[in-house]
Amino acid sequence: MGNSTSLEKHLVVFDFDCTLTTKHYYHYINDYKYFRTKDQWKSEVLEFRRDELIHTLNTRTINEEHKNILINEFFGGEERFNLLVSGINKLRQQGCTIIIASRGKKSEIENLLYCIEQSNLFNKIFDREMDKTKLILTNITNGDYKAIYYMDDDSREHEKLLDIILETPIHESSNIFFLC
Ligand SMILES: [Mg+2]
Repeated sequence: MGNSTSLEKHLVVFDFDCTLTTKHYYHYINDYKYFRTKDQWKSEVLEFRRDELIHTLNTRTINEEHKNILINEFFGGEERFNLLVSGINKLRQQGCTIIIASRGKKSEIENLLYCIEQSNLFNKIFDREMDKTKLILTNITNGDYKAIYYMDDDSREHEKLLDIILETPIHESSNIFFLC
């Protein structure tokens, strides 16, 4: 058993779409024409049941059938979903702060987390209102965290941050790790 506070001052930053999820949730809701052009996101159930799924999400209806569809389609199935949830819970129990930094919309992310019964999984959700590059940079430069782990499927997001970091005085106790 690890020390219950051994990961205090550690920050994990997750991008949302295609990092926590396996398909692009923002595009599914807001730009379905684009979503359906991507072979890797194609799904009959998401195609034919989109209206009812969106209704469930928007009204935050507890619906076991839709919950299972959302887990299967957006979280790669029950096994991946359970590993993700238990992993994040273990890190939080050890004092780690875990946030979402997305360029999507907070209310839509919250609706999805609610419908899969994970509203309290993350410490905080930041969306397009707070530029994620700036958000991470602030946490690096103010030295509040000993280590920051930034997970994003889009390597351009990592590069954008790295370009700024190379020109910014970084607090000496902050380490940042980029993970795809
Ligand atoms: Mg992404």
